Amino acid sequence: MGKGFFKVPVAKNEAVLSYAPGSTERKNVLSAYKTMYQSKLEVPLYINGKHIKTGATQTMSPPHDHQHIVGTYHTANQTHVEQAIATALEARKTWANLPWEHRAGIFLRAAELIAGPYRAKINAATMIAQSKTAHQAEIDAACEFIDFLRFNVQFMTEIYADQPQSTNDAWNRIEYRPLEGFTYAVTPFNFTAIAGNLPACMALMGNVVVWKPSDSQVYSAKVIMDIFNEAGVPPGVINVVFGDPVMITNTVLSSPDFSGLHFTGSTFVFKELWKQIGTNIHNYKTYPRIVGETGGKDFIIAHQSAYSKQVATGIVRGAFEFQGQKCSAASRAYIPKSIWPEVKSYLLEDIASIQMGSPEDLSNFVTAVIHEGSFDKIASYIDAAKESSEVDIIAGGGYDKSKGYFIEPTVILTSNPDYETMSTELFGPVITVYVYNDEDYVETLKLVDQTSEYALTGAIFSTDRYAIDQATKALVNAAGNFYINDKPTGAVVGQQPFGGARASGTNDKAGSAQNLLRWVSPRMIKETFVSPKDYKYPFLD
Ligand code: NAD
Repeated sequence: MGKGFFKVPVAKNEAVLSYAPGSTERKNVLSAYKTMYQSKLEVPLYINGKHIKTGATQTMSPPHDHQHIVGTYHTANQTHVEQAIATALEARKTWANLPWEHRAGIFLRAAELIAGPYRAKINAATMIAQSKTAHQAEIDAACEFIDFLRFNVQFMTEIYADQPQSTNDAWNRIEYRPLEGFTYAVTPFNFTAIAGNLPACMALMGNVVVWKPSDSQVYSAKVIMDIFNEAGVPPGVINVVFGDPVMITNTVLSSPDFSGLHFTGSTFVFKELWKQIGTNIHNYKTYPRIVGETGGKDFIIAHQSAYSKQVATGIVRGAFEFQGQKCSAASRAYIPKSIWPEVKSYLLEDIASIQMGSPEDLSNFVTAVIHEGSFDKIASYIDAAKESSEVDIIAGGGYDKSKGYFIEPTVILTSNPDYETMSTELFGPVITVYVYNDEDYVETLKLVDQTSEYALTGAIFSTDRYAIDQATKALVNAAGNFYINDKPTGAVVGQQPFGGARASGTNDKAGSAQNLLRWVSPRMIKETFVSPKDYKYPFLD
């Protein structure tokens, strides 16, 4: 910035549209959905701004209708990945030196494109690719993505404004340099907003990126690239490669110029990547930054003072929205014996009213899980529960993959607080409930803390401030995002920065300045106005 201390627009959260019957947004999203559903999309690789069609293709199908093909995408071989790295490093020469207001302008423009002309398209793409309902697509692909882009621009300027003290004879300045080399974004299937944000926030801070989306999110990743392109992200700044994750990752991590990993996905994969980076550490020119947000086994604990209806609603929304495929989804609940009959009755009543099917029918609350592997895994846990003497399935338990990967919202009641589904992340519409004796509240808090390796989100429902305080203290390390009298999902950028510790990730809080700080390497500059001319200090006289 040469000629002014520019102020960026004050970031505001994008308002969530209702999609109520008769609304314009409902008409627009359904119309986009229909058109896209009947068309065939061809998704290339994006290297140096060019659309690369390798000829090695995979088909794309909606999880709720797996025999219907909505397009193909091209997959990379090792040479393409090497080209993506080389072109990123070339683009860095200009991108890293572009004044920040231009980077801000590009990503603010991307936010407005999503808010306006691309809103129906990116939501429809997310409904088709990831089987989100219109509401779930809206809060993810439109609103959260817009919020990431707007707030990150504001956070960037706050970081830049953070400067050290100076004196009359010396001026101290910090410049927040992009990392030297290129960065690598590896993104999950479940949030279009995360897929877009991971590469975008690194690019915003002046970095160049190789981005590998999930195979199950390519369809909506294409819309993200269309938006970035229209917003003016220059060629080579964000390069996208699809295909074999192991080959792509091996190629990226063996480059001496690799300087940072921005990962969101499962815990096992992240730990493997961390290990691989460790093994290669002597080859890198700089210590790579490693940021990973990973799995969860998120809890709801109710105290005897809680309102049963609120607890039941928290469970239904927290566990079953988007088929339980949010990293923050409630998947274990601890309910006191005294209120369990009432909570159970509300829960079963709600579940009985839930409709399941294609997201095109807006009365459906639950749609399909992402792919066959996930379906089979969840079904196997349901089957095991049906056989176990320690648990009862009190709601759901049915599944059917003949047309789409549909699994009924399922509640498992366990008499064993260590039963497998109390600690393993299933990533589906299944919650396990353990009923405890009211007087064992403190013991149960310990159980919540110690049952799983994860520490992402969790919630306490209570009207008793002492009980809330006890839970807040006892669960201090059990969740990076802790909710009082609310479901553990639905973090909003700029309001609840998101991330967990333990096996849930490095807790660098997506949607905050803390995350952006990981993508810069500060340089301290001290400028002395009148330099000394004599080495001797007065005390030497
Ligand atoms: P995943 O781990 O299967 O895939 C994530 C990414 O890693 C994808 O791009 C995938 O292709 C890639 N990948 C998979 N195997 C790889 C390998 N061997 N080497 C290199 N890359 C590999 O996760 P998913 O199914 O896409 O997403 C669900 C997971 O993500 C859940 O565990 C969920 O809790 C987690 N998640 C966490 C957060 C968070 O903020 N903590 C947010 C969203 C999702």
